[in-house]
Amino acid sequence: MTMNLILMGLPGAGKGTQAETIIKNYGIPHISTGDIFRAAIKNQTEMGIKAKQYIDKGNLVPDDVTCGIVKDRLAQDDTKKGYMLDGFPRTLDQANALQKISSDLDRPLDAVINIDVDPKILIDRLSGRFICKNCGATYHKLYKKPKVDNTCDICGGHEFYQRSDDKPETVKNRLDVNIKMNTPLIDFYKGLDLLYTVDGSQNIDNVTEDIDKILKNL
Ligand code: ADP
Ligand code: ADP
Ligand code: ZN
Repeated sequence: MTMNLILMGLPGAGKGTQAETIIKNYGIPHISTGDIFRAAIKNQTEMGIKAKQYIDKGNLVPDDVTCGIVKDRLAQDDTKKGYMLDGFPRTLDQANALQKISSDLDRPLDAVINIDVDPKILIDRLSGRFICKNCGATYHKLYKKPKVDNTCDICGGHEFYQRSDDKPETVKNRLDVNIKMNTPLIDFYKGLDLLYTVDGSQNIDNVTEDIDKILKNL
């Protein structure tokens, strides 16, 4: 049985946080387009330099770039038993492209997990988010503090940063852009009978439990 999954949700809904646990429990690769872009920006690749212009304004990177990345990534061998896409697709065009990519590669979707959160609480989540410089683990200044002050739970690192697109000027536009795209996407996957929605306003552990129940029943 395969586990070909999408984790959907607005910025700050908890996709990255939940993906960390899912991939640990199920051993499938976590494919985050945002992470791929940030790595490319850090390494100053041609694609990274192009993507940065959009990301820093809170806009979406054009579909041709984004879909190309996902196609190459899903073609790799480690997705044979499953994969967890996070942050892709974000537009209907991307969703349609993914239908073709995943069927061409014989990796059809099994489920779309939608982490549903009232947009009102997302600004708070995004503005309190900080990330380990060494391993990329995500924390929150109120809701997910490292167990030992200023020390990463995962790698023991002591350096953290705030994402440049989590600054208040960018967050508002990012949320607006994503909210507009979200409803048609949800309807698209409902129509394919693939959509499972969890209440993402609960605490982190309860959201994990709800997702786990869905995955166990697939
Ligand atoms: P996404 O990947 O969807 O943008 P993250 O997983 O990075 O979201 O979570 C955004 C911020 O909110 C992070 O700082 C994270 O620690 C925190 N967070 C994630 N899930 C919850 C939750 N259920 N309750 C409170 N805070 C959360
Ligand atoms: P979030 O925490 O907002 O869910 P991500 O790390 O998934 O953030 O994405 C960060 C940024 O990268 C987005 O605001 C967007 O500019 C770009 N990006 C990520 N995924 C996509 C995508 N599927 N299509 C277009 N742009 C994307
Ligand atoms: Zn770390």
